[in-house]
Amino acid sequence: MRLDKLLANIGIYGSRKDVKRLLKKGKVTVNGAVVKAGSFHVDPEEDEIRFQGDLVVYREFIYIMLHKPPGYISATYDAQHRTVIDLLDTQLQYLNPFPVGRLDKDTEGLLLITNDGQLAHRLLSPKHEIEKTYYAKVKGIVTEADVQSFKNGVMLDDGYVTKPAKLNILHSGHISEVEITITEGKFHQVKRMFKAVDKEVSYLKRIRMGKITLDPHLPIGAYRELTPQEMAYCN
Ligand code: URA
Repeated sequence: MRLDKLLANIGIYGSRKDVKRLLKKGKVTVNGAVVKAGSFHVDPEEDEIRFQGDLVVYREFIYIMLHKPPGYISATYDAQHRTVIDLLDTQLQYLNPFPVGRLDKDTEGLLLITNDGQLAHRLLSPKHEIEKTYYAKVKGIVTEADVQSFKNGVMLDDGYVTKPAKLNILHSGHISEVEITITEGKFHQVKRMFKAVDKEVSYLKRIRMGKITLDPHLPIGAYRELTPQEMAYCN
């Protein structure tokens, strides 16, 4: 790939124009020789690229686990609200990351962020029926009848009948606590499923997506890169 493109993609050296300027100043070496032409072709795997003597580490793709806090929109840009991308370091933002699917503004928990469109497609494609598990607080008593209804599928407000979902009652009472696992990703799905059985979700947090579980050591609002093991789960 072109040297100027590679350096610009990394983000910390500025735009392609900035990079061209830095190249002209002779700040970049490839395999020990100064290269001033942005069009120079490099192989990020093979060539040793240095900026002012420091090794340039090139990463095309980033894979991030975010513990989403409430109050953030799952989008790359929003004119009015803060987005989950705003929670990332600027250097990562340069790499054009986007959230893999959506959590509602008030929903917390596991959100994957990447710039790898193929990975996002694999995880989101309805064909793959990736399981998503949520912990929810629900107003009112959640019953075994609800468990059965969710297993059979419930009709949402638009007439859509949901695929079988697993409902595990952790505590039943004035405010019930449950874990629900769904394989789809309809708009407001969990909230609408409870509405279909005359109940209201008062708190929602995603704790698992496929085989990736929200890291219990990750504070709310914080993020980290996926481990090689978690990466393997995505493939
Ligand atoms: N279901 C919802 O209702 N909201 C979410 O954010 C995710 C699933």
